[in-house]
Amino acid sequence: ATATMAPFSTDLEDVFISVKTTRHYHHSRLPAIIGTWFQFAKEQTWFFTDRDDPYFQNQTNGHMINTKCSSSHNRRALCCKMSVEFDKFLESGRKWFCHFDDDNYVNVPRLLKLLDNYNPREDWYLGRPSIPTPLEIVRQGADSSKRSQKVRFWFATGGAGFCISRALALKMIPVAGGGKFITVGDRIRLPDDVTMGYIIEHLLKKQLTVVEQFHSHLEILKFLNKDTFHDQVSFSYSKGSRDDWNVVKIDGFSVRDDPKRFRSLHCHLFPQASSCPHR
Ligand code: UDP
Ligand code: MN
Repeated sequence: ATATMAPFSTDLEDVFISVKTTRHYHHSRLPAIIGTWFQFAKEQTWFFTDRDDPYFQNQTNGHMINTKCSSSHNRRALCCKMSVEFDKFLESGRKWFCHFDDDNYVNVPRLLKLLDNYNPREDWYLGRPSIPTPLEIVRQGADSSKRSQKVRFWFATGGAGFCISRALALKMIPVAGGGKFITVGDRIRLPDDVTMGYIIEHLLKKQLTVVEQFHSHLEILKFLNKDTFHDQVSFSYSKGSRDDWNVVKIDGFSVRDDPKRFRSLHCHLFPQASSCPHR
């Protein structure tokens, strides 16, 4: 990119995108990503899973990482994956760490445009909380003589995606690097995204910058205005009981061919994409 007006020019190569997944979801969730936004960030995106999978290893040009973490949906297993994601980012030398779930659609050009507004040499934690007030937890003192303390902090919802600048990540190394993220998670016994908020906001005293353009399926996605889709960084979906899906409202492929609406969204945002119908 040319550095004319923009203070920071974020290229795709500056970003490390991690997608958390699990063996049970490879076939049900990864194709919707690989067929759409992954095509715009093939070299930058890595899937963190819990089993070797030759089929998807091939589909992603070797971008599946077996974390060797447990494949159960418990707090420890999820913190284990986040820990490996974080350490791989550090190893990568890139400027930005952006985490997503395997039910996220990432609007890649919009993500780069967002990051352009922030200096990766400064401390940045960008994301969107899903609760209206900061989380309040009670931390027990290290020994009986120490009193318990109330701790309040914000955290970015992992299911909407969040980004951390390299400068901040480097400051996190003493508490969270080299697998220590898991130790912190064990100590506070909270999920991975909450642990991330605890480390950054409480331990390092750096504030979350709220970015409304990250979206998880904790929101009612049909309420997102189609005219603003270009401006959103991430989307998601979830399947409720029977066939009622929480999805973005967008015309395009049939609900049968595209229940998650990712392909329709992709073709709405990028009509020229090769997987989209051309006139
Ligand atoms: N996940 C995982 N191991 C599991 C279950 C889920 O790594 O045993 C990952 C999953 O791939 C996804 C995230 O955790 O990226 C959230 O899972 P899901 O969407 O099923 O649940 P949610 O918390 O969003 O309701
Ligand atoms: Mn989910």
